[in-house]
Amino acid sequence: MDVVTTIEDFYGVYLLVSRSENRSFAGRTYIGYTVDPNRRISQHNRGREGGGAKKTSERGPWQMILIIHGFPNSLSALRFEWAWQQPNISRRLKNIPGLGKKSSLRKFDLQFRILTEMLRIGPWNRLPLVIRWLADDFVRDFPPEKLPPVHMEISFGRVKRKKKLARIEDDIAEGGSQKSLSCCLCSSPIEEPRQSLLTCINPQCSLQCHIICLARVCITESNQYIPTEGDCPICFTHFLWGDLIRKKNGCSDLVATSDDATDTEHGNYNDLSIDSTDEDSDDS
Ligand SMILES: [Zn+2]
Ligand SMILES: [Zn+2]
Repeated sequence: MDVVTTIEDFYGVYLLVSRSENRSFAGRTYIGYTVDPNRRISQHNRGREGGGAKKTSERGPWQMILIIHGFPNSLSALRFEWAWQQPNISRRLKNIPGLGKKSSLRKFDLQFRILTEMLRIGPWNRLPLVIRWLADDFVRDFPPEKLPPVHMEISFGRVKRKKKLARIEDDIAEGGSQKSLSCCLCSSPIEEPRQSLLTCINPQCSLQCHIICLARVCITESNQYIPTEGDCPICFTHFLWGDLIRKKNGCSDLVATSDDATDTEHGNYNDLSIDSTDEDSDDS
C-alpha cells in the first residue's frame, strides 16, 4: 500500500483504530471527518495540544484503517459522519437490527457492519463513493449479500489531498482555529463567529454555520423573515429557532447539556464527535 493517490476536492470520513498498549484503549475506534487525512491522523496522534480530538488524546497511537471519500461537499460528508457515529439515533439506520452499542462484535467489526449497511441505503447508495483501505491487516471482504453498489470503488493505499490556494473548507468541523472557521452550508469563512456563528442544540453534532445560512434553510414561507423552527441539516434534530439563538447567546440550559460544550469556544467542533462504542466499553 505505498502508492499515494492525489485528489482534489477531497471530503472524507475516516475510521481510526487505537493501537494503544493500554488494554482499556486498544481496539477502540473513532470516526471523523476530514479534508486532509494525512494532516488529520498526525493531529490525532499529537493529542489535544496538536489539534487532535479529546476522545483520541493519549489513547493512541491511532491508525487510520478506512476512509470513505467522494462526497460532493462537506455537508454530505458530515451527514455521513454523523450517521456512522450514531447509528442508533440516525433516522436512516436506527431500524436496522444489530447496529447498536449492545452488539457483541469487536469494535472495528461493528463499525464495518454499520458502514456496510450505510453504503447500501439512500442517500449514500447513489453517491460515487470510494471505499479506501489504508491498513492491510484490517482489510475485509464485504459479505456477498451486502456488497456496496457496483458504482462504488474499493481502493487501497494512501490518499493525499491536492492543495488548492485558499481552500476554505479546510477547517470545517476539523478542529481548525477559530479565525478560519467555515460555514457547513455555504463553505465561506465565518468572519465574526461571535456575531454570526451558529451551532446545533445537539452537543454531539458538528454543525457550524452562519446564522443567515441556517435561517435560509429553515424559512418555509416567502413572507417569513425569521424562522420559527427547523431541523439541523446534519443530525436532523428539530429545534425552535429561539432555542438556537438563546444557546448562541449563552443564556439557555441547552448550553450545559454536555461537558464538551465548552469546546465550542475554541472552534474545536470535531472534539464533539463521539465514538459510538466508546462510552459503554464492555471489554474486560
Ligand atoms: Zn454560510
Ligand atoms: Zn445538528
